[in-house]
Amino acid sequence: MGEWTGGHMSESPAIAELKTALLAAVPLLAVDPAKKVLTTRPDGSRHDAGLAMDIMLDSRDIAEKAQADEIIEAVVTLHAKMKWSDILYTDRNGPKPSFFHIPGAPPFGGPNGMLKKNPNHNVKLGQAHINHIHIDWWTGSPTTLPPSSRTTGFKASLVSELQKPPKWLTDYMKTVP
Ligand SMILES: [Zn+2]
Repeated sequence: MGEWTGGHMSESPAIAELKTALLAAVPLLAVDPAKKVLTTRPDGSRHDAGLAMDIMLDSRDIAEKAQADEIIEAVVTLHAKMKWSDILYTDRNGPKPSFFHIPGAPPFGGPNGMLKKNPNHNVKLGQAHINHIHIDWWTGSPTTLPPSSRTTGFKASLVSELQKPPKWLTDYMKTVP
């Protein structure tokens, strides 16, 4: 694809720390990390640059989708500490998929604004993100790693965010006498 021409890179510090945090906090991923958390690969994409991660949680599976939504909520909450660039995933209305992305830094953006779900009208790209969340620290350079990809120090906050009881549970607990 030629998105990245700077040679095959290992995981950037931000990607490596995100992976450590997810494996510490999310049992659904930790059961099979090699299949569930995919990072760098020699394909000429932003993954090749060590700047991207695919979190294999399928939007068609109720449990995986719920876990995926929690992860997305947590990383949006912590964006100021993490400085990621973009997220791609899929919401569902019954069988009907709705493709979205969440811009976090230029060059990404959308009509709903940064850190909000924006429609992804590229159907092929959308369909490629039905079975996983994509998150990256990509900022568009084919040969230079962005300073944001060296962002670290967010692991403890992210683990604690991911281990908070979900809102539906805290709401439910309030109704129990
Ligand atoms: Zn990806």
